[in-house]
Amino acid sequence: MTTPALILDNVRVSYGDGDSQVHALDGVSLQVNRGAFVAIVGPSGSGKSTLLAVAGALTTPNSGDVQVAGESITGLSDKELARVRREHIGFVFQSSGNLPSALKARDQLELAARILGRRGRRSNDELLDAVGMSHRADHRPATLSGGERQRIGIARALVGGPDLLLVDEPTAALDRNRAHEIVRLLAHECHELGVAGVMVTHDLEVIEHCDRVYDMVDGRLTPRD
Ligand code: ADP
Ligand code: MG
Repeated sequence: MTTPALILDNVRVSYGDGDSQVHALDGVSLQVNRGAFVAIVGPSGSGKSTLLAVAGALTTPNSGDVQVAGESITGLSDKELARVRREHIGFVFQSSGNLPSALKARDQLELAARILGRRGRRSNDELLDAVGMSHRADHRPATLSGGERQRIGIARALVGGPDLLLVDEPTAALDRNRAHEIVRLLAHECHELGVAGVMVTHDLEVIEHCDRVYDMVDGRLTPRD
């Protein structure tokens, strides 16, 4: 049995103190296996972004344990956390509006691979093909639609061959059809590549494409049946 790519064990994150203390994560436990794509849904302020930040080695919890690809990351230095992100984690953001505007789609992937200093088993061309963007390889972000930019954002997140893919509200800027396509693509890539995917969203329509769904309310996570 392989270790889950992500384990959160009774993780707590709080902000502030005394009367104004907020428990952003209030004892959250979660395991995500390789090849599984799960959704976390919840209202604004329920702790979704905090959960992604913890899983993404960007925030250290006040207590509890976090393991990425079998390695406990609580107590690591900032430098070590950066290594964990580089070696194991891919991030997909809300609208992929953060793609450098001067670079063609193909070069976006090349830049990402160089920054990471590593590359998964798929070439850039294979990645572009997988996300249905081969025909746009020479396009710059300004000439791509929102859905197309999101596809490049997904390919870029997969460049290093991550164990864990963290996805923050990927459909927020897309129409319905595009939203379904993007989430279907994310699920497919996780299954195909054996990547553990975690998507936070409040788009209830697209969660049908996910293997498991968890509800987040007031910093607590509950699995749906
Ligand atoms: P979501 O992504 O579901 O909207 P967040 O994880 O952003 O929720 O926030 C969870 C709770 O923690 C909210 O009450 C929010 O106001 C609070 N919070 C988040 N980040 C900070 C911070 N840096 N300082 C203080 N409070 C924060
Ligand atoms: Mg958020």
